[in-house]
Amino acid sequence: MGQMGKSGRKAEVSPRFESWGRYPKYQADVVPLHWAGDFPLARPPATKQLPVGLGRSYGDVCLLENGTLLLTTGMDRLLHFDAATGMLRCEAGVSLQQILDFAVPRGFFLPVTPGTKYVTVGGAIANDIHGKNHHVAGTFGRHVLRFELVRSDGIRFVCSPIENPEWFAATIGGMGLTGLMTWAEIHLRPIVSRKIDYRGEKFHGIDEFFALSQAATSEYTVAWIDCVSTGRNFARGIFMQGDHAEAPGPLNRSKEPKLTFPFDLPQVALNRFSMAAFNSLYFHKQLGKQKAGPVDYEPFFYPLDAVLHWNRMYGKHGLLQFQNVLPLESGREGMLEILKAITKSGLASFLAVIKFFGDVPSVGMMSFPTPGVMLALDFPIRREVSFDLVDLLARITLEHGGRMYSAKDARMTAEQYQSFYPQWQDFAHYVDPGFDSGFWQRVTGRRPLDV
Ligand SMILES: Cc1cc2nc3c(=O)[nH]c(=O)nc-3n(C[C@H](O)[C@H](O)[C@H](O)COP(=O)(O)OP(=O)(O)OC[C@H]3O[C@@H](n4cnc5c(N)ncnc54)[C@H](O)[C@@H]3O)c2cc1C
Repeated sequence: MGQMGKSGRKAEVSPRFESWGRYPKYQADVVPLHWAGDFPLARPPATKQLPVGLGRSYGDVCLLENGTLLLTTGMDRLLHFDAATGMLRCEAGVSLQQILDFAVPRGFFLPVTPGTKYVTVGGAIANDIHGKNHHVAGTFGRHVLRFELVRSDGIRFVCSPIENPEWFAATIGGMGLTGLMTWAEIHLRPIVSRKIDYRGEKFHGIDEFFALSQAATSEYTVAWIDCVSTGRNFARGIFMQGDHAEAPGPLNRSKEPKLTFPFDLPQVALNRFSMAAFNSLYFHKQLGKQKAGPVDYEPFFYPLDAVLHWNRMYGKHGLLQFQNVLPLESGREGMLEILKAITKSGLASFLAVIKFFGDVPSVGMMSFPTPGVMLALDFPIRREVSFDLVDLLARITLEHGGRMYSAKDARMTAEQYQSFYPQWQDFAHYVDPGFDSGFWQRVTGRRPLDV
């Protein structure tokens, strides 16, 4: 049954909302919001609620079994732009793609962007996302000026570093649990061209990666690392860096991608051999040791967005993402242990990235990034092996003083989460009593792990 919003419109209810990893799968009512007035839907709500955006989180941070998901993508209006300062006010369901379509032709760009532009502003703030410029720009939350928060009891207030600053800090990286953000103001940065001055360099082994990261001078840095090959090809990769071009160039809107992954691939298609072949091709596509020149920002920031629904490649069982950060002191040893465990398992896919995070502090109370070395990669879900592997990687992360990223997780235990984020009990005071998520249930020990 649909519920009536405050605007008087009967909200539609659609049956299914998946996270990007397509695991876990929970049944929930999905109630699309079109106006801030559509919420709160009922007082007190019959079921717990959770705002959601484009579902680009991998695990259960955007899921709530038998709850009500407040789908914000209908709240997608740009409200105000000041070209003198770069300040953009927009509704929380606006996607980063919409912002780029609007801003690039006007000579502006996102201050921080993840590896996909199909995320909403609300989702970007709630997970306090990071990008290839973390070492200089910090997380997305640092570039948020203000937003409105609405609680399930109907109370609404503006949050900024000076207005309700404790709510500002709890909501940035607050995983949607502190209330619904309706609009936000963010600071865009000027550009003079769509082009990125790119440089790619091959490396062999973790020590070469560390040396390249420490010597890098660009605004954007990230590396692809081969987590499949062993022997002399172990931990080879390509270190990529780039800066916005300084020479004036094209500022046109991007074209829509034409390719869509058409169906769920059978599990057998993605195996040790196909992944090894892909990794080898990727490594050798850059023929020389170094490659440099101007490239468009789309393939530089969003190579995976070129194929819509690429997550279908992992089949209907879905994928697990593992993302962690280790402090620099233990980063080399810890990453070697992790990379060895991954190559030994034969489960890694080709989507593995490694990067140095900087020491720019995050604004959010529960934000993921800390200074150190970060690794992110996907595993196809094969119950008997992939759960054990991710559990092992979580244990190694804990032993080396690191932490894992909630936006990408479906497997952390309550004990692990509470060690990674010891401030979780302070944060719990800000959680809206009408809100909950599968993730929050799991990491507070109210939902058992799948075995
Ligand atoms: C290909 C790919 C690459 C990625 N690369 C990166 C990366 O480089 N760096 C990075 O940090 N992340 C990355 N991500 C993860 C992604 O950026 C985050 O998970 C992001 O939060 C997803 O936004 P969304 O709009 O899809 O939100 P959802 O996934 O739907 O929700 C995310 C969280 O936001 C909350 N939320 C959503 N809207 C609101 C609102 N209006 N008010 C309050 N809470 C709200 C939800 O409750 C949930 O907790 C990547 C994901 C993919 C698929």
